[in-house]
Amino acid sequence: MIETVEIQEPLGLDDYAELVHLSEAVSALREEASRLVPALSGRKVWMVNSTAQGGGVAEMLPKLVTMLNELGLKTEWVVMGTEEPRFFDLTKRLHNLIHGTGDPGITDEDRQVYASVSSENAADLKRRIGPDDILVIHDPQPLGMGALLKRELGIPFFFRCHIGLDEDSPETRAAWSFLAPYAEACDYAIFSAPEYIPAFLAGKSGLISPAIDPLSYKNRELSPHKLVGVLKNAGLARSRHPVVPADYRTQATRLRVDGSFAPMDEETDIGIPFRPIVTQVSRWDRLKGFEPLLEAFVQLKQSITGRAVSERQRRRLAHVRLVLAGPEPAAVADDPEALSVLGELVDAYRDLPHWIQDDVALVSLPMGSREENALMVNALQHCASVVVQNSLQEGFGLTVTEAMWKQRGVLGSQACGIRQQIRDGMDGRLISNSRDPQEIADLLEGMLDDLPGRLLLGQTARRRVHDEFLVFTQARRWLETLTHQLQA
Ligand code: UDP
Repeated sequence: MIETVEIQEPLGLDDYAELVHLSEAVSALREEASRLVPALSGRKVWMVNSTAQGGGVAEMLPKLVTMLNELGLKTEWVVMGTEEPRFFDLTKRLHNLIHGTGDPGITDEDRQVYASVSSENAADLKRRIGPDDILVIHDPQPLGMGALLKRELGIPFFFRCHIGLDEDSPETRAAWSFLAPYAEACDYAIFSAPEYIPAFLAGKSGLISPAIDPLSYKNRELSPHKLVGVLKNAGLARSRHPVVPADYRTQATRLRVDGSFAPMDEETDIGIPFRPIVTQVSRWDRLKGFEPLLEAFVQLKQSITGRAVSERQRRRLAHVRLVLAGPEPAAVADDPEALSVLGELVDAYRDLPHWIQDDVALVSLPMGSREENALMVNALQHCASVVVQNSLQEGFGLTVTEAMWKQRGVLGSQACGIRQQIRDGMDGRLISNSRDPQEIADLLEGMLDDLPGRLLLGQTARRRVHDEFLVFTQARRWLETLTHQLQA
């Protein structure tokens, strides 16, 4: 039930240090590690979560674990598991409740299922843990086993919670009162925003921001040549010129007026990288705020007539296109909510006036190859004049980090995670009401019209990501947190 995840990360710290824009961050990490790691010698860190694939935690752990090992801190990533489907139904419900939605009723049967899966997994991991080891439990699924291991072995126990809501509601209270007995057993808890810390953990919690890997396929620099190659290979742009790599096995598709998704042809080509592009790349989730963004874009287009604008502004607004991109429907077939959100967007698209349909592209990104998918996201974000993340709620919003790193003009909502990243007017712009299409349209127009302003925002944004939200900072914060708390 407990399985070690084998990690294959091709790049080591030397590869990052070679690059002039990353060498400073690597040196700072190495310096800090040389001061702190000796205090942890002989100990092994166990990172425990519930999935090796999918989701932000599984996305971040391989790099973090590899880096900590390279810095001399033995770290192993293991995944808990069970054949009991009711366990994951319950933990999915707890996840939603912590985000403020769902039925707050938790039954005795739920408690019993959680307790028994926790104890099976704890028994399994217990055999492998040494007396000086350190336990780091990611998210609520393995929290119960963490509490049991703490009780039985007395080892240091850290709870790293990646989710949260900046509001108190009957739903959040139900989830936290269920989890409290387990969470209280931890020595220290770590959240992504101060607003997420539940009152009962206030005295023993700290913050570590999620982070991106600047050399991953999603975030690495793409030269113009490579960029257009990715666009062409992915079917996101058309050209009669050949490119060296072969086309991807599965191409991106675009929604057609008849409601089907199809590869782009001459007529349905979006115009990337030539036209001004506004884009949002996200999972098909109602909380991502796709619909108000679409409405805002329509209002922006409709506002061209009947207003005094300069010829250049008029042309910009006439040419700009909106790209809403997310995972292909087949990849979310087991997620009824994603299918219904996508269905609603398809309906909204089909109801648009014909002349606006040309300027709106709902794009389905194949998920069969992680590398190709990541390169597509990279290329789309890279080609956008404005990257939007209009989430009604957001735990952190790595898409924002990704776009800030690429020096894009980023327009984000006030959702808690996004507020941790964008300082309005410095690293991007913030929408005060992500359900208000008129406000979004006005902000979009302001950003599209102001290239020098966007460049400045983009540069500050990249610096902020460099300092706060790259894996090097994240690894440093882990070393600091572990050593400080163990000395405390
Ligand atoms: N993403 C992707 N392909 C898609 C849609 C999203 O790779 O078709 C990625 C996106 O680039 C980001 C992650 O999924 O890295 C989403 O993380 P975020 O924190 O923005 O939101 P979450 O999905 O965790 O709510």
